[in-house]
Amino acid sequence: MTAYADFYRRSLDDRDAFWAEQARLIDWQTPPQAVCDWSQPPFARWFSGGTTNLCHNAVDRHLKDRADQPALIYVSSETGEEKVYTFRELHSEVQRAAAMLKALGVRKGDRVLVYMPMIAEAAFTMLACARIGAVHSVVFGGFASVSLASRIEDAQPRLIVSADAGSRAGKVLAYKPLLDEAIRLSSHKPEAVLMVNRGLAPMTMQPGRDHGWTGLGEQHRGAQVPCEWLDAGDISYTIYTSGTTGRPKGVQRDTGGYAVALAASMKHIFAGNAGETYFSTSDIGWVVGHSYIVYGPLIAGMATIMYEGLPIRPDAGIWWSLVEKYKVTVMFSAPTAVRVLRKQDPAFLKKYDLSSLRALFLAGEPLDEPTGRWISDSLGVPIIDNYWQTESGWPILTVANGVEKMPSKFGSPGVPMYGYNVKLLHESTGEELTGANEKGVVVIEGPTPPGFMQTVWRDDERFVNTYWKSIPGKLVYSTFDWGIRDEDGYFYILGRTDDVINVAGHRLGTREIEESISSHPNVAEVAVVGVADALKGQVAMAFVVARDTTALTDDAALLRLEGDIMKQVDGQLGAVARPARVRFVSALPKTRSGKLLRRAIQAVCEGRDAGDLTTIEDPSALQQIRDLLAK
Ligand code: AMP
Repeated sequence: MTAYADFYRRSLDDRDAFWAEQARLIDWQTPPQAVCDWSQPPFARWFSGGTTNLCHNAVDRHLKDRADQPALIYVSSETGEEKVYTFRELHSEVQRAAAMLKALGVRKGDRVLVYMPMIAEAAFTMLACARIGAVHSVVFGGFASVSLASRIEDAQPRLIVSADAGSRAGKVLAYKPLLDEAIRLSSHKPEAVLMVNRGLAPMTMQPGRDHGWTGLGEQHRGAQVPCEWLDAGDISYTIYTSGTTGRPKGVQRDTGGYAVALAASMKHIFAGNAGETYFSTSDIGWVVGHSYIVYGPLIAGMATIMYEGLPIRPDAGIWWSLVEKYKVTVMFSAPTAVRVLRKQDPAFLKKYDLSSLRALFLAGEPLDEPTGRWISDSLGVPIIDNYWQTESGWPILTVANGVEKMPSKFGSPGVPMYGYNVKLLHESTGEELTGANEKGVVVIEGPTPPGFMQTVWRDDERFVNTYWKSIPGKLVYSTFDWGIRDEDGYFYILGRTDDVINVAGHRLGTREIEESISSHPNVAEVAVVGVADALKGQVAMAFVVARDTTALTDDAALLRLEGDIMKQVDGQLGAVARPARVRFVSALPKTRSGKLLRRAIQAVCEGRDAGDLTTIEDPSALQQIRDLLAK
């Protein structure tokens, strides 16, 4: 057996011994009494009896050996700020933030909703929550008031931490009005709001509720707030993600299992070493930002770069200049960003000394071969595709660089990672597919490994019903992705089985977009589908039946309504969810029982065969879409 094959087998066949070994990669206040408790499937409990703290493992424990080494490197190409915090400085900023949270009434188990741009205070807040046992719920700063309101409603935060504004391509996006509107829309009201003022946008503060970060921070300069020792199973955070139904799900994560999973992944997958620099270009609003901007690299004793801005501003060399300056050894990004860079002058890749870089990891969406080959040839380091989800918290499929240098295959993220018993199921019979190159649904046999979601926040039933299914002798978790496995055991991911689309690596529910569009007064019906796009992987396309067509007499009127609907989506969900086009039809293709034929619409948009249409009610509805696209 090869080194990795053996490592992998041990993780499944000798599960407890394997993970007990990994658990030694972190500090425990009380060592765990048990490793995996699978007595109440599908709820896997890891490291019961152990007490630990994520913030201790990310910050405090490094003070002994590397207090004066860089921990957090903050760079904004939007505002020109650049600041390096050592572990000692990070320790003091996090304690100060923890003192502020406590002063605002936050206690262990309380939720703190974080709606922030990529600024250092966002990382301080997350770590401060972990320090005192509060549950953070970070909402992507690109989301607007309606998305934010549904998350406030569900998370019921005692405190919301935000900032005056974010900035993208030099354009200021004011957060405070969106936040105020979201709080107005939500039936749950936070007791307090803590605002960082970057001086980018004016803010109206609500007396009694709103507090300024700087003013309150002054009162807590030099504060000492010890870490709370938490049970391994205590909740560290929730993060919302989209599924088939309109309502986003709060993916809930534990403390001990997550800390172990991240420490193990930093060693076995990313092969990052203490004292080096890690650069993930994601955003703290996504799971990659949680695992591999904030917690993972810091737990490993690495410096982590937190970058606000685009990859091509001020020019396409900005990321590579950071690699040179901070001697980045491990980098993590998304295929869309690489496709953006590929359109720029390749000279920017030759301008900087990139000799420190050992690997570039890419995730979040399929990596197409031309993009993979281009960046691989340009950088001359391994390009490591990795497949995972918000739910898993760390890679499910990739190659474990730190265990054995395994060959990559273009188009495949790789093989199952240790701890993941990945299988393929037949779509309709639900039987396990064991042959090579058969297409099925990618599932994970329980128990899921440490770091995996514990449940859906406050909704165990939804967790069980949405994700889990029994097959003879087994309980399996569905990823909602199609996949195939080749004769060498490498998997290929072929897209979602549900109504989730992936725009530039951002996961969006088409139902959420449909709900937003439906609330426009002149929309009677709408269908949103994901359509293949050369740059973003997929874009959303909307087809609308207007309620009143009397004014829609010419192209200019249609364009006005299209713009109006897009503006509404921007204001409610955020620009990330805005469809690329909104087209108008007189009817939508449906089955005779009234179900929207989304897959047929998608096929037509992508110029593919629409498949089996025997149940279609009115074939002319699909023809209308074909005609529109041909125009
Ligand atoms: P998210 O929860 O936002 O991370 O989105 C997870 C989904 O993104 C997965 O279920 C896949 O559909 C897709 N995905 C993530 N990584 C990859 C990858 N390396 N290759 C193909 N699809 C991916």
